Amino acid sequence: MEPVYDDNNVFAKILRGEIPCRKVYEDDYALAFHDINPRAPVHVLVIPKGKYVNMIDFHRRASDEEIAGFFRAVGRTAAELGLEARGYRFLANNGADANQEVGHFHVHIFGGAPLGAMIGRVRGEG
Ligand code: 5GP
Repeated sequence: MEPVYDDNNVFAKILRGEIPCRKVYEDDYALAFHDINPRAPVHVLVIPKGKYVNMIDFHRRASDEEIAGFFRAVGRTAAELGLEARGYRFLANNGADANQEVGHFHVHIFGGAPLGAMIGRVRGEG
């Protein structure tokens, strides 16, 4: 199924300034802000300025410039947060199996403490 972008998703509203956020970093390609429900001492979301549902959509439709700009912004956000000395994790949930809740592509940055195992063990069907 093709991802369909909904202009009323919460991150679209943040980009339009209709909902406030605690901004960390912004440039032409991306906006970064603190997650409202943090899962680590530092939990920040980085979103592209363009309208993309998730990575499935982003890698298909975004220009090379947007992709490069976005992932550079992820790195710069982590640097601004002072996470480079001790390290950090980033991840993106894409689609149903990953429990993606908000339909605007976003990367989570976690840090500020040892983060433990990469993922809990998952029992697959296949
Ligand atoms: P997902 O499960 O889609 O990867 O993650 C969505 C994230 O967005 C969750 O971690 C959730 O806490 C965060 N979130 C949802 N609504 C808001 C909001 O209005 N403001 C901020 N800053 N974060 C939000």
